[in-house]
Amino acid sequence: MCSSKHDRQSCTVVARLTLWYAVICALFCGAMLTVVSMKMSRNAAKRIDHYLTAELCEFASIYTEKGIEALQEEFGRETESEGANKLFCRLVIPGGAPIATSKTSEWDHLEEELQNAPLPDSNKPVFCTLYPEHSPLNSRMASVKTPDNMILQLGINLHAENHYNRKIQKILIISSLLMLALSTFSGWLIARRAMAGIHQVTQAVSKIHRDSLDQQVSFANKGREIDELVAAFNSMLLRIKSLVRELKEVSDNVAHDLRSPITRMRGIAETTLTAPCELSDYQEMGLTIIEECDRLTEMINTTLEIAQAESGLLDIDHTPLDLVPLLHNAIDLFLPVAEEKQIVLNANVPNDPLVIFGDKGRLQRVTANLIDNAIKYTPVGGRISVNASKHKEGINIEISDSGPGIPREELDRIFERFYRGEKSRSSSGNGLGLSLARTVVQAHGGTVTAQNNPDGGCTFSIHLPIGTA
Ligand code: ADP
Repeated sequence: MCSSKHDRQSCTVVARLTLWYAVICALFCGAMLTVVSMKMSRNAAKRIDHYLTAELCEFASIYTEKGIEALQEEFGRETESEGANKLFCRLVIPGGAPIATSKTSEWDHLEEELQNAPLPDSNKPVFCTLYPEHSPLNSRMASVKTPDNMILQLGINLHAENHYNRKIQKILIISSLLMLALSTFSGWLIARRAMAGIHQVTQAVSKIHRDSLDQQVSFANKGREIDELVAAFNSMLLRIKSLVRELKEVSDNVAHDLRSPITRMRGIAETTLTAPCELSDYQEMGLTIIEECDRLTEMINTTLEIAQAESGLLDIDHTPLDLVPLLHNAIDLFLPVAEEKQIVLNANVPNDPLVIFGDKGRLQRVTANLIDNAIKYTPVGGRISVNASKHKEGINIEISDSGPGIPREELDRIFERFYRGEKSRSSSGNGLGLSLARTVVQAHGGTVTAQNNPDGGCTFSIHLPIGTA
């Protein structure tokens, strides 16, 4: 039944659920059986006591009104109609012998219990159950005091009652066992059905391999929980797919970005070695190789920094920092480059301090990257503006340019590691600037977004919360 490993596991869950179901049903049946039995015997006792009281009342009134002979006759009639082994009636002197009695030969085994039976001290009946020592036949007895201080006793054999009770109990036990078996079976069916959805999902999932990450698990229609499991799995699959794609692109880009400078360095070294050279040629080769090495080192460091920031390992300073001088310094730094391209670089930064708790060095790099990009991608004669403002929730910095803007399909991807826009591949850069900006801003608890301006160009918006030390 449970051949494969998976089958064995789901069997265990089904078996566990069934067992739980059976245990709960057994407890429920047991409790129900106990309550019903108790209720039945209490009702039977009430009914018998009621009968005994009514009969005793009748005997007492016959004795009071008609005397002892009439009572004796009534005893005879009563035992004849009910059976001498079923009923016994006596009129006794307290602590003495009976002065009137029905046929009692059937009740000899109760002689000792009758002697010890509790005596009434009023005309209210006193009840007791007599358990003979050597017989399983117990009896119920009621006694009352007559006005002349005699004691009237009426006993009834509980044999028929016990027999009836046992029969009912037997029926109850059998039906409870049947109910238990039936509910255990239905519990097993339900558990199996519940597990069927999971089984179906697991089978669908196990068919998805590394090469078929495009596939999605189809909804099994086995209930909301299973559908939620499928949805969660599908979204995880999408995340894995995008991570695998990103990983592939990153490795492709790293390979490309490493290969080009290494090939360049090798080419220069080869040319210098194969052709007769002056000292100045060697010096130039050394300079180019140092520049390429610096570029590579910077790229590797930035990649590491992004990876550290993404995994939460980057040590970010959270010291009070006024963003106003930081932005003015960045603008002053890039002003000559902008002027060289005849780009107007505007600053709309308030005079009041814009203080947050943050890492000065890293935020300087973020603003520098964004202004540098704006200058790089804005054509000659364009405009760039750097705006900063304070809001209730934090500080907003916007860097707007009149450049070509960003194609819609690239807007979502420009913050990915090593991603470079289609048209930007010819210009210098390694596709790490925006990725670093995003991770640094996120490490400060902020966000950075990009959008195209309605009148051309694009705007990068940074939102930084005030933060804490
Ligand atoms: P890089 O500039 O080195 O290519 P970035 O990570 O800084 O890498 O930018 C990623 C891409 O985003 C760029 O290749 C470019 O396509 C696009 N981009 C960034 N800033 C701008 C901008 N101001 N205008 C147009 N495109 C931009």
